[in-house]
Amino acid sequence: MLRIAIQKSGRLFEDSVGLLKDAGIRLSNNPHRVLRAEAANFPLEIIFLRDDDIPEYVEEGVVDAGIVGENVVLEKRPTVSIVERLGFGKCRLCIAFPKNTPFEGYQSLQGMRVATSYVRILEDFLKTNQITATVHEISGAVEIAPSLGLADAIFDIVSTGSTLLANGLREVATVLESEAVLIANPGMLPEKQEILNRLMFRMQANRNAKQHRYILLNAPNDQLDAIIRLLPGMKSPTVLPLAEPGWSSLHSVVREEIFWDVLEQLKMAGAQGILVAPLERMIL
Ligand code: ATP
Ligand code: ZN
Repeated sequence: MLRIAIQKSGRLFEDSVGLLKDAGIRLSNNPHRVLRAEAANFPLEIIFLRDDDIPEYVEEGVVDAGIVGENVVLEKRPTVSIVERLGFGKCRLCIAFPKNTPFEGYQSLQGMRVATSYVRILEDFLKTNQITATVHEISGAVEIAPSLGLADAIFDIVSTGSTLLANGLREVATVLESEAVLIANPGMLPEKQEILNRLMFRMQANRNAKQHRYILLNAPNDQLDAIIRLLPGMKSPTVLPLAEPGWSSLHSVVREEIFWDVLEQLKMAGAQGILVAPLERMIL
C-alpha cells in the first residue's frame, strides 16, 4: 500500500483529486469529509493535509509521496525527490514595489526592507545577485506591509496582480515560476516504489494524451510524400488505400501546441476531409 498526501482544501485540492481520478483511481470515501481515504481499486491510501505540512510528512516517511507547490518545496527544502511536474497550480513568486518607487533593475533592492513568507528563496535570490537587503518574515497578507510602513517592497506569490494593484503595488521582477509537483521519499521500500511507478505511468499516459491530437485525412496519392513530411507522428503515419482509386487515408498523432499550424499546412498540401480527435490515453 502506497500512502500519498494531498492538500486537504485549497487551490491544489480539486486538481490533485482529479489527477488520481483520471488515473482510474476510485476513492471509497467522500474526500471532502475525511482526513484519509483508501482507493477501492488500487493499493493507495490518500491522506489530506495542509500543504505546508506535506514536505515534512514525506521527508519523515509518514507518507511515501505527496502533491504540493514547488514553491513550498523550494522554501522548506526537505530531503525528498521531485519525481514529476504536474502542470497545474501554476503561479509565480515576484518582487513588487509601491507604485511610486522607481525600479531600475535588481540593484534597486539594495538597502531595502523586503517583506515575504518565502525567506529562503528570497535570501538565495539576493545572494545570487549580490544585493544586501533586510528580509522581514511575515506569514500572510504580505501585500499590506509597505502601506503599514513595515517594508519598502514585498516578495510574494502573484497570479493576476489585482491584489497588488489594490494595495498600491506593482510587479517588478519574477524570481520563480512554480507549479504543483509530485514529491516522494527517496528511501521508500521497493514494493512501494513499484506502486508509485504504476501511478506515474498512468499519469504520464494521461498527460501525453492531453498534449496530442489524433488526425485523420484523405489525400491524393501524388501528394502523400509532401503530407507525410508534415506529419511525423509517433513512428510514421499510417497510410491506407481508399475505395476510390488514386486516394489514401492518413492517420497520425500531432502535438497539441502545433496542430493548428499543421492543419493549415495540410490543407495547403492538398489534404481533404481532415478530422481531429482528442486522445484518451497515450503510451509512448
Ligand atoms: P493550506 O490551508 O493547505 O495551508 P494555503 O492557503 O497555504 O493552504 P493555497 O492558497 O490553497 O494554500 O495555495 C496552495 C498552493 O497553490 C500554493 O502553494 C501555490 O503553489 C499554488 N498557487 C497557485 N496559484 C496561486 C495563487 N494565486 N496564490 C497562492 N497560491 C497559488
Ligand atoms: Zn499553506
